[in-house]
Amino acid sequence: MQATEELIRDVVRQVLAEMGGKGESRTNGTVKTTSSYAGRHGIFTCVDEAVAAATEAFEELSKRTIEDRKRIINHIRRISIDQCVELGTMEMEETKIGRLKHKIEKLKTLGERTPGVEFLRSEVFSGDHGLAVIEHAPFGVIAAITPVTHSLPTITGNAVSMIAGGNTVVVNPHPSGKRVAAGGVSRFNEAIYADLGIDNLICVIAEPTIESADALFNHRGVKMICVTGGPAVAKAAMQSSKKAVVAGPGNPPVVVDETADLDRAARCIIQGGSYDNNLLCIAEKEVFVVESVFDAMMAAMERAGAVRLNCQEVDALTKVAITSVGEGAHKHDVAAKEFIGQDAAFLAKAIGKHISKDVELLFGETDETNPFVPVEQMMPFIPFVRCRDVDEAIAKAKYFEHGFRHTAIIHSHDVRNMTKMGRALDTTLFVKNGPCMASLGLGGEGYLSFSIATPTGEGVTTPLTFTRERRCSLIDDLRILGKA
Ligand code: NAD
Repeated sequence: MQATEELIRDVVRQVLAEMGGKGESRTNGTVKTTSSYAGRHGIFTCVDEAVAAATEAFEELSKRTIEDRKRIINHIRRISIDQCVELGTMEMEETKIGRLKHKIEKLKTLGERTPGVEFLRSEVFSGDHGLAVIEHAPFGVIAAITPVTHSLPTITGNAVSMIAGGNTVVVNPHPSGKRVAAGGVSRFNEAIYADLGIDNLICVIAEPTIESADALFNHRGVKMICVTGGPAVAKAAMQSSKKAVVAGPGNPPVVVDETADLDRAARCIIQGGSYDNNLLCIAEKEVFVVESVFDAMMAAMERAGAVRLNCQEVDALTKVAITSVGEGAHKHDVAAKEFIGQDAAFLAKAIGKHISKDVELLFGETDETNPFVPVEQMMPFIPFVRCRDVDEAIAKAKYFEHGFRHTAIIHSHDVRNMTKMGRALDTTLFVKNGPCMASLGLGGEGYLSFSIATPTGEGVTTPLTFTRERRCSLIDDLRILGKA
């Protein structure tokens, strides 16, 4: 652990030490450039400098071909995949939340599956009055805010999508994930610079604060904001005067009705709800089960390997793992920091229960007044609430999703119930008979991103999310259909 921390510090130190080497061109690629920030490999402590470097990089990228963009992205993909063990370990050691196996897997998956330039397209309108072509142009420099739950994975996904769209990015990472952010970004830039001679396509603020985020939000050189995080940062971005793509918080409910395959539902809830110790924003957070299959569902969860807490144990866990913040009307429950992203065995130990470290998920019956139901707990305990029928289950699911319109899940073989829930919840992602990650193409169809834009409506972000439409019209010519 110590060794890896040293390694990260060395990378940052080395990169910062190179800050003096302005303008030197050390590329072995075909095109050489000299930039006043070349050699920094994306590491900045000053917001103005980071934006200036990203602006220079944007201007250089704008001169390059789509093939070059692909080559740039291939370096990001290659490093995320080839170095997933080292970088995933750095992320785990720095953030101290989640599971190492999943930290590694997330980097590999994002490297492999984030949509790239192949996702770009143009549209054409051809008619009596000629031809109009709609193309997708970059915005320029994008400011990205990234969460502690997936520091480098979010940067990897954002960088691929944003650069595919022709943009550059300045990242203000979560302070508790800043070292892995800087370590990953410097590796990406170094490889890109060596091959293509463009540095600083991805810049990172090495000492991020709320003030540096705010400075980025309001910087003249920043053309767009992309925020991935909880309620406070989502609100700040929504209030910004710039175009914002906001990937906000979730509290995904699950409904299980009497027609569900209970063993399959149990396996799915464990897979999604325990992944990286429940840190995913799309992860199963509370389950509403119809009365007639409630006991059978609890038994299915135990058969599938989750450990059930009794009433007293649930109460004891609630006391230690949920706390409240704010004053007066703003007072509300939140997950206690020391419990977020910890293993099930850690949670159990805190209430004097000893279980195997291999247990992935704890669960127990609660009623809806238990704070684990409304709170986005981000820890591997899931409350199960008994409901009279599917209508009550859907109504409660809607209520406790809080109108985030993020993710909802149903286990059912009744298409009417699926339709009812889909309509009622109105979420960005709606999964039927699968774990949450199936909605991102991991075991289901579709594509992947770790920034799922909810209040601003872009959904699972892609390169097209980070582009602006431009139309080019030729009047009365170039339509080749019809008589000469
Ligand atoms: P967080 O909200 O504490 O922090 C997220 C980022 O915002 C960090 O970089 C933080 O420093 C910054 N930040 C916080 N308040 C800010 C403010 N007022 N102004 C500017 N920056 C601010 O969240 P977290 O614990 O890092 O991540 C978990 C949260 O993110 C959960 O709520 C989860 O649902 C959400 N999330 C959403 C998605 C999505 O795609 N919708 C993806 C991952 C995580």
